[in-house]
Amino acid sequence: MHQGACHCGAVRLTLPSTPEVATSCNCSLCRRIGGPWVYFEFGTVAIEGHPDSTEDYVQGDRTLRTIRCRHCGCVTHWEPVEAVAGARHGVHLGNFDPQLIASVRVRKFDGADTWKFLEE
Ligand SMILES: [Zn+2]
Repeated sequence: MHQGACHCGAVRLTLPSTPEVATSCNCSLCRRIGGPWVYFEFGTVAIEGHPDSTEDYVQGDRTLRTIRCRHCGCVTHWEPVEAVAGARHGVHLGNFDPQLIASVRVRKFDGADTWKFLEE
């Protein structure tokens, strides 16, 4: 199992499986908070310390809630504002073991403009 945490450890995440591909996005939010992101079905990522130790940010179209630790400020994940069937979680892979980060293939996603991957 892959376990990660924010810098201070107040928010801890356990992934349901080993990610092989991650997404680096250039949208107005992701270019600021980084990534890369890995995605899982909503509810399958075990998260401790949330919402007790977290704050969130809901951006323009109000579909996603971006979650950060209220103590150290690190962004840990995002979740759908509405947990509809098929909804996904995004997990900020930067909170995990550097070896895991290095093992994952990162694809660049043009979230700022075309909503397409910029490379295969
Ligand atoms: Zn923290």
